[in-house]
Amino acid sequence: MQLEIDHYRRMPVAPQGLFIGGRTVPAARGALLDTISPIDGRVLTTIADGDSADIHHAVAVAREAFERGGWSHTAPAHRKKVLSRFADLIEKHAMELAVLGVRDNGTEIGMAYKAEPLSAAATIRYYAEAIDKVYGEVAPTAPQTLALVLREPLGVIGVIVPWNFPLMIGAWKIAPALATGNSVVIKPPEIASLSLLRLAQLASEAGLPDGVLNVVTGRGATAGEALGLHLDVDAIAFTGSGVVGRRLLDYAGRSNLKRVHLELGGKSPNIVFADAPDLKEAAKVSAHGIFRNSGQVCVAGSRLLVQSSIYDKFVDELISIVTRLKIGDPLDVRSDVGAISSDVQLRKNLDFVAQAEQEGGRRLCGGERLHAETGGYYMAPAVFVDVATGMTLAQQEVFGPVLAIMRFDGEEDAVRLANATPYGLASAVWTSNLSTAHRMIRSTRAGVVHVNTYGGADITVPLGGFKQSGFGRDKSLHALDEYTDLKTAWIAL
Ligand code: NAD
Repeated sequence: MQLEIDHYRRMPVAPQGLFIGGRTVPAARGALLDTISPIDGRVLTTIADGDSADIHHAVAVAREAFERGGWSHTAPAHRKKVLSRFADLIEKHAMELAVLGVRDNGTEIGMAYKAEPLSAAATIRYYAEAIDKVYGEVAPTAPQTLALVLREPLGVIGVIVPWNFPLMIGAWKIAPALATGNSVVIKPPEIASLSLLRLAQLASEAGLPDGVLNVVTGRGATAGEALGLHLDVDAIAFTGSGVVGRRLLDYAGRSNLKRVHLELGGKSPNIVFADAPDLKEAAKVSAHGIFRNSGQVCVAGSRLLVQSSIYDKFVDELISIVTRLKIGDPLDVRSDVGAISSDVQLRKNLDFVAQAEQEGGRRLCGGERLHAETGGYYMAPAVFVDVATGMTLAQQEVFGPVLAIMRFDGEEDAVRLANATPYGLASAVWTSNLSTAHRMIRSTRAGVVHVNTYGGADITVPLGGFKQSGFGRDKSLHALDEYTDLKTAWIAL
């Protein structure tokens, strides 16, 4: 595996244009953005700095493709064939895509390989397979009428995704959107656009008609805003921060009331009861649950709630695991954890650490920059104990390798702490008591509750948040609702 990784890491990356109408084109104004690799802080290549002119161009092309019907009016069986070919091509180019993505965003390659190309291919295959098995309805009306409930594509979907897993999260939106016949304009994250551009080329190669999938790279405040405000975009599917999520709702209100589907952040509680089946395993999985991809995971278990009677022992076990993690070159298979995605994000993480200390948190390990001599952005995983509910670290998402540990006494206390943030994305409970597990599932306000594990997921189950973690669902058949409208046909007999 390392040989193949090294082969792709040595490949030069050509300057990138936009992908509109099945072709690579420069930004209308010709502006460029540097792509910095977090591995060494050097310029990897440039991407086009698209803005509202390019968004207008891409949306017009996407609309034209939708109206022409070369995709939207085809049989589901045809779309299934093309999307299956698309998934095959992603698998064929999996290592190339994974390494390109890691050079762009710093995720450790072992994780990136599975979570990015392989998961994107699995997602596209899932919706390809699903789409010719979804039926409309005949409503139970009176005998003198026939009422059909039909599902139709929305039209042009704007997709905006973050930098942590652009292929996986992009596929969660692109796949159901395309399977249901929509056209798509995607705005990748400005600091990690490369793998999505390559993905769109593979879609063309698979036979997706020109103009159905378009990619406009550029900044959020320009290209992203233009997509959010566009009068001819029917829906925005977004994953990212709450700040930008709020802006997208505002843009929709100020433009055409387009649908907005938001997957936002989290401050997810991972709750360990004294009767957890295997405390060593719980500590190992909890460390992985927060520190994989340097904590840059929306469902990261960033608040660890431990029952008082096992608190000291459990914290010791966890620290011994965390301090043994090997942080370094994400393209070296021996690294457990790779780089922080950008200089900006690294500084943000270090500021969170400083603030947590000022607010009285006790740091047991990590929290400092590592390997500065490489020019890359590395950070030692930080663990804070005795974190109080009111502290910033207990309330705000860091989106970096910083864990807040809190102590609880009984079940009621655990529930109170678990729900004491504005977020509600993920959670976990570790216990051998079936009743405790079921009560915790019911009382935790989160889109997913894991029991005796952390972070398990599959394309067959929906993902999305409660409270300020957003609304709407990615993944599973439920995601088809986000990209279709129901139409009733009322027929007098
Ligand atoms: P971000 O919100 O800053 O950016 C996300 C995307 O929005 C980027 O493509 C960016 O260019 C674009 N954007 C920025 N400003 C915009 C604007 N004014 N109008 C339109 N688009 C704009 O988030 P990020 O820093 O890329 O990612 C981290 C955040 O994403 C975290 O809060 C994390 O929790 C969240 N996230 C959530 C999930 C989930 O499934 N719930 C998954 C991954 C990440």
